[in-house]
Amino acid sequence: MATESRMEKIVSLCKRRGFVFQSSEIYGGLNGFWDYGPLGAELKRNVRDAWYHDMVTRHDDLGVPAGAPSSFQMVGIESSLIMHPQVWKCSGHFDLFCDKMVDCKACKSRFRFDHVSVAVMQTRETPPVVLAAETYIPDDSGGGLSATKTKKMEQSVFQHNRAKGTSVEGELVTVSLDNYYKRLTDSTPADLKPKCPSCGGELTAPRDFNLMFKTTLGALGGEDDAAFLRPETAQGMFVNFKNVLDSTRLKLPFGIAQVGKSFRNEITPRNFTFRSREFEQMEMEFFCRPDQSRAWYQYWRDRRFSWYTRLGIVSDSLRMRDHASDELSHYSVGTADIEYAFPFLDKGEYGELEGVAHRGDFDLRSHAEGKLVRKDGSLVVETDADGKPKHRGSGKDLQYFDDQTRERFYPHVIEPAAGADRTTLAFLCEAYHEDQQPDEKGEMQERVYLSFHPRLAPVKVAIFPLIKKEGMPEKAAGIYREFKEAGIAAQFDQQAAIGRRYRRQDEIGTPYCITVDGDTMKDDTVTLRDRDSLKQERLPIKEVVEYVRHRVTKW
Ligand code: ATP
Repeated sequence: MATESRMEKIVSLCKRRGFVFQSSEIYGGLNGFWDYGPLGAELKRNVRDAWYHDMVTRHDDLGVPAGAPSSFQMVGIESSLIMHPQVWKCSGHFDLFCDKMVDCKACKSRFRFDHVSVAVMQTRETPPVVLAAETYIPDDSGGGLSATKTKKMEQSVFQHNRAKGTSVEGELVTVSLDNYYKRLTDSTPADLKPKCPSCGGELTAPRDFNLMFKTTLGALGGEDDAAFLRPETAQGMFVNFKNVLDSTRLKLPFGIAQVGKSFRNEITPRNFTFRSREFEQMEMEFFCRPDQSRAWYQYWRDRRFSWYTRLGIVSDSLRMRDHASDELSHYSVGTADIEYAFPFLDKGEYGELEGVAHRGDFDLRSHAEGKLVRKDGSLVVETDADGKPKHRGSGKDLQYFDDQTRERFYPHVIEPAAGADRTTLAFLCEAYHEDQQPDEKGEMQERVYLSFHPRLAPVKVAIFPLIKKEGMPEKAAGIYREFKEAGIAAQFDQQAAIGRRYRRQDEIGTPYCITVDGDTMKDDTVTLRDRDSLKQERLPIKEVVEYVRHRVTKW
């Protein structure tokens, strides 16, 4: 029997213990949508709360945070999921938020360009002559083309030589579908055109596919009433910049943050919750003076990276990757991604958890003046053939007036944009551990445990009576109630042998287990066991709530 991969084990634990379920599972599921079960909902809520707490509620503890150029303020908002369609025209999502894709005319499968490869057998001359081409989807380990197909490709060299009476050598190369399309000409024979990787059928010409979900407003709505589910939360902060400024006494620098759902009609959702069509983002727009923006960019890169390490992601699985200049958005001065080595990726590969971008003044200016494009090195309003703005802005004054220096200007923006689902998945993957521990009979058993940081653990403490008599259940129930009253997520469990109860809690990542035993009935002390070190210590009952509270709120 094939052994389960680490990722398969994590996915199966998520379902078995109620972290993540496929959406609408009883109807066969819906691709790209996920539901969080009782424990998953708690875990994700703890991730969101940790983010909001660290970014907004206690962002500075009334001082200048370490490494920050100065003190700053932070507020939260909650904006609507559907916004005025002009928002997406000025933000660039309407024109540019696209992936290239092709459809199979026969089996109707749809493929994203960058997920398909073409194996090409070509001659070694310059320019090479293509002798055979096979379209395929690389498997998770990067390989893909079957041995039979490879053999068939090799035969194409032999057939070519026989037909031409020559003897050329062939080489087998792999190119992206995008690059292969660039090599096609009108005279390329049909058998060398890319085929459907599933059924070998004919593919449509490649086309752009906008990732925004479209909907219609009102019962009679036509094309003019088309609206979009937001593909990011960030625009809510930009369009409310003036409202926030006018309704608060904020002065630069300050940040506006929000946590909320976003929707992207991903062509090929995959890798569990990593790439979903409905997901949650935790985004913050930090407004500052242009001349201080580089220092703030550096500050937020460092601060956001350390957020993950402080919550338990060890540094070799996490990296900061600066975007190369050709990867930067047309307005971006600099962007760095915080990435995690997810177990479903090949060794050495990382997936994005968060992007930290220096966005300059692109967003506020676009929403004021009209959608901007870069021309001759500077940002100008994009115009149509008649010289009119392609997408009109709001015409509102979205500049900031500095009453000290008497200057009026567009603030620059630093945006740390994180995904709550990807971050939750990374914390789950990082926490997954297996070890061997002796059971009650002294036999070694495999133990699976999730070593969540106590702030993130869905259940913080479990309380067990050692046996179901001699007043122990009542005593344990009293302690359980004290935890509930203190607002600390607790479970009470009196079923099965104590070792099994520990294992059940280890598997869901509960950091502390408290056992009420015979001694408790004499001296009011309990045993507190630590999930990771397995150390047990004896504590008076009156100290346990404070002991656990201190550890599960420490940050
Ligand atoms: P990717 O390149 O992986 O598609 P992106 O660069 O488009 O991501 P951003 O627009 O920067 O992503 O969004 C900020 C964060 O939102 C990402 O770092 C990620 O954590 C999360 N996110 C984006 N798209 C998805 C998705 N389809 N499913 C889950 N989370 C997502």
